[in-house]
Amino acid sequence: MTKQTLSFQAEVKQLLHLVTHSLYSNKEIFLRELISNASDACDKLRFEALNNAGLFEDQPNLEVRVSYDKLARRIVISDNGIGLSAQEAIDHLGTIAKSGTKEFMAALEGDKKKDANLIGQFGVGFYSGYIVADRITVESRRAGLPQGEGVRWSSEGTGDFEVETITREQRGTDVILHLREGEDEFLSTWKIKSVISKYSDHISLPILMRKETWDAEKSENVISDEWETVNKAAALWTRSKSDVTDAEYKAFYEQLTYDQTAPLAYTHNRVEGRSEYTQLLYIPAKAPFDLWNRDKRGGVKLYVKRVFIMDDAEALMPVYLRFVKGVIDSADLPLNVSRELLQESRDVKAIREGSTKRVLSMLESLADSESADDKAKYAEFWKQFGAVLKEGIGEDHANQERLAKLLRFASTQADEGVSFADYVSRMKEGQEAIYYITADTLAAAKNSPQLEIFRKKGIEVLLLTDRVDEWMLSHLYEFEGKSLQSVAKGAVDLGKLQDEEEKKQAEAAAESFKPTLERIKAALGDRAKDVRVTTRLVDSPACLVTEEGDMSGHLARLLKQAGQ
Ligand code: ADP
Ligand code: MG
Repeated sequence: MTKQTLSFQAEVKQLLHLVTHSLYSNKEIFLRELISNASDACDKLRFEALNNAGLFEDQPNLEVRVSYDKLARRIVISDNGIGLSAQEAIDHLGTIAKSGTKEFMAALEGDKKKDANLIGQFGVGFYSGYIVADRITVESRRAGLPQGEGVRWSSEGTGDFEVETITREQRGTDVILHLREGEDEFLSTWKIKSVISKYSDHISLPILMRKETWDAEKSENVISDEWETVNKAAALWTRSKSDVTDAEYKAFYEQLTYDQTAPLAYTHNRVEGRSEYTQLLYIPAKAPFDLWNRDKRGGVKLYVKRVFIMDDAEALMPVYLRFVKGVIDSADLPLNVSRELLQESRDVKAIREGSTKRVLSMLESLADSESADDKAKYAEFWKQFGAVLKEGIGEDHANQERLAKLLRFASTQADEGVSFADYVSRMKEGQEAIYYITADTLAAAKNSPQLEIFRKKGIEVLLLTDRVDEWMLSHLYEFEGKSLQSVAKGAVDLGKLQDEEEKKQAEAAAESFKPTLERIKAALGDRAKDVRVTTRLVDSPACLVTEEGDMSGHLARLLKQAGQ
């Protein structure tokens, strides 16, 4: 084919204009897109070669090479993957085959924050090269075609492109970016390496760059002829569990989080079925300083087929598990799906549900373990993250029962570590409810006059002092059929725990105190709803209670503090 000039499809023209103008603030993503295309091309070759090993020619080692030329102001991304025939270059680089381009352009034009992650999702990643380049030349030969049937495609990314046949020895594709004026920052080994390690570190294919060495004579770095791999080239989570050591998991955690304290636990699984993904999730040993910021995004990175998509993909974890760190690699999601789309995706919902269950099992196995070491770990976990986990009681009804079992409290019998199950096992004969009191501090809870009758009868009361407790208890009414009852609300009905003698005494007292009660009621006026005789006090003369169903005094104080 002699050189011919062809016109881009109308949509491509529009798109090129939009991409270069809208995505400028995130321009470094062009490298991710072009490397991901190179990696896709290698995957395609690997697949086609399953039936035709000859396609490998004499180069079975698939790889990507990135190089640059400072003087010519060019960056070249090369792969020895499947390559393009001339017709494929015309079809794939001049038209947009995929649907959704209109929506993509509408999204870019809209007032929504320009999300560079949108680009790959619509199958238009190639054009991101034009953010930094004023001309892109693609030289390629499809695997299996003779050397004389290579193709050169070239365009300034405005109206048209040129194609011509070339002779090309090497199979695969070179994408040559001629940088725009002012984009010289990318003409640096350090810069390119850092973008690669940010986005493409865990591509399982080696990404090679020329080694830079120090030239003492010139007293500057020079680029040598030697190539070195600059990415990790094997995503840890893609390896089989049995091949990865505990030390490797921990090192990966450190690389992921910059946290030098070893994680408390981790879980690594490949999930197959309706939704296919791999998860590697860690529970840190220490809470971050901003744990309480619920707007903070989660700590889980999203990959799609080993290509990094985004940090902190909050849609992958419920808010109450925001302390979990790790990686989820999906085989189903479109590459570079945006945050907005993540929120709506059914695949993501399945991933979130599956990952939540994994994290809960991880916690359960620590909490229920026979080993003292694991028990200590769970106690530590509870200290660091317990109050956050409690948010789940109200937010995750599907897992409420499992979460309730993981809760730990202080009580009138132990200062920490009391589970509902522990409490239930110590319930008195005839006791029907689980009793609790909420207060600002443990000391205040312990000294509350409302506990007197429970002390006297030897009934355990849970002492709740976390800010979220009141809110949590507005979502949790019972544990295994035992209702949860505040000792500070309504008339405490000790039911069968009260003997006949006590009942009689109470009735007699109510009768004889009637005139006194009337006078106190009159004196308090509107300030008290009711004044009554109680059996709940042993040493104190009086205490305040709220009506069943009303806000507790503790919650009312919290809300007042918060200015509500
Ligand atoms: P997507 O990768 O989502 O298909 P792109 O705009 O990134 O969209 O790429 C468009 C198409 O161009 C690809 O589907 C592929 O057919 C072709 N292509 C791009 N880069 C390469 C490459 N390095 N080798 C072979 N084909 C490529
Ligand atoms: Mg692509």
